[in-house]
Amino acid sequence: MTATVDTAALTAWVREFGRLIAAGRDLLTELDSAIGDADHGVNMDRGMTAVLAALAADPPTTPADVLKRTGMTLVSKVGGASGPLYGTAFLRMAAAAGAADALDAPGYAKVLRAGLDGVVARGKPAAGDKTMYDALAPAVDALDEALAAGRPLGEALRAALRAAEQGRDATIPMVARKGRASYLGERSAGHQDPGATSVTMLVSAAATVLGGD
Ligand code: ADP
Ligand code: MG
Repeated sequence: MTATVDTAALTAWVREFGRLIAAGRDLLTELDSAIGDADHGVNMDRGMTAVLAALAADPPTTPADVLKRTGMTLVSKVGGASGPLYGTAFLRMAAAAGAADALDAPGYAKVLRAGLDGVVARGKPAAGDKTMYDALAPAVDALDEALAAGRPLGEALRAALRAAEQGRDATIPMVARKGRASYLGERSAGHQDPGATSVTMLVSAAATVLGGD
């Protein structure tokens, strides 16, 4: 069976991400209070609540539509660094989805990589800077590798999730070189990056919702 990721599946992915952000809001805030300004959980929850309301009020008709509306809502509702970063990621994903009615597994992987490229274009993070990149980049690489090895989408997404979790956990000892946390210098070490934590929720939502093979 070839997995198909259609408009409904992508909508379910975004909804599950919103659910995980709401459930993790306090954790994200706590992480951001250690090395930032304690707003990441509130920012992301405000943004995703608005996204879910927008998608429910006017159901999208194509995969690109789901992703574009998500990106535009995040850009307008989420402040700080993460609004433009997540917003750009979703807008790049929408562009990569093009006019397709549904994505196959490699098509979905291409979309996710376009999102990662959007984060890089917007924030210029490098590996080891202690940002969301450190969880998302290994996840996207793991997804591509697993699909290239012939694994079904569900298994590939579970591999991507493991890679994201490892990347997220690996941010703990890192010294931040981007964003607010970088103002702390060496004192940023010993804390898990909030953005790496929220982006792992995005991959987790994909593994849960799109991982049924
Ligand atoms: P702010 O730092 O403006 O308060 P948030 O708290 O919402 O914004 O988001 C902080 C997260 O954004 C960080 O944990 C980090 O993962 C991510 N981030 C910050 N700057 C960058 C950047 N230049 N590139 C990639 N990610 C970044
Ligand atoms: Mg913050």
